[in-house]
Amino acid sequence: MPPVFRFAPSPNGYLHLGHAYSALLNHDLARAHGGRFLLRIEDIDATRCRPEFETAIYEDLAWLGIAWEEPARRQSEHLDVYRDALARLGRDGLVYPAFESRAGIARLVAERDRAAPWPRDPDGAPLYPGTARTLAPGLRAGLMASGQPYAWRLDMAAACARISALEWTELGAGPGGESGAVTARPQAWGDVIVARKETPTSYHLAVTVDDALQGVTHVVRGADLFWSTSVHRLLQALLALPAPLYRHHALVLGDDGRKLAKSGRSTVLRELRAQGVTPAGIRRRLGLAG
Ligand code: GLU
Repeated sequence: MPPVFRFAPSPNGYLHLGHAYSALLNHDLARAHGGRFLLRIEDIDATRCRPEFETAIYEDLAWLGIAWEEPARRQSEHLDVYRDALARLGRDGLVYPAFESRAGIARLVAERDRAAPWPRDPDGAPLYPGTARTLAPGLRAGLMASGQPYAWRLDMAAACARISALEWTELGAGPGGESGAVTARPQAWGDVIVARKETPTSYHLAVTVDDALQGVTHVVRGADLFWSTSVHRLLQALLALPAPLYRHHALVLGDDGRKLAKSGRSTVLRELRAQGVTPAGIRRRLGLAG
């Protein structure tokens, strides 16, 4: 079976040099290994994703000389698949509805922070305090029936209790140089959201389900997602899905040494194209063979 690679951008802004690096690397690896290259549009966030950004993704990738298998998978067209995965987690008693707003969670964290520093996840965000996990069943049912919006969160302790130690194979490197067999630490993320208030999925759930459904064998993506792999491994184990190999690559940084933004004029692909930069010039700048 040929290896399967994918590039999975979110259409919430224009692609920049960091995306170009990830897309070209996946594409080049697929080609070098006689593999397949898939494109997946991660458009579950209806508030931030826009059709013009999706069109721009197709244009920019074609300009870079990248060909993908048609049709690209658009996550917004597969919400039923994620709903089924969520239902399975629900049947296993591993998710619960959480009703707080962002501001409400910030308040709960601030209260706890006063006693002692409240734990942060690997991205630096405070862990969800778990308040909705222990709601009395009657109160929970009443809130659900009242029409108040809620997200679904994974009961991390219950989920981890079902699974023995998890690892993944890292062909690249993590932020601390981790590579080879890496121990997954999903607990570090607390009770993550598996379905947002407005959609039956979240990034973590959709990416895990899709990588399996699409038969992806190699997940090649930026090192900023390295520790998210812990959650993906856990969801794979809970949903009985196969684990791909992972390769996290260093991020392309701006001249100021910071992560690139989708609006940074000097690094956005269409701006560079308008300035006369060629696809070969982009490859040279990224240190990729022509
Ligand atoms: N859609 C994610 C992003 O644009 C990438 C997901 C992944 O490669 O796993 O950051």
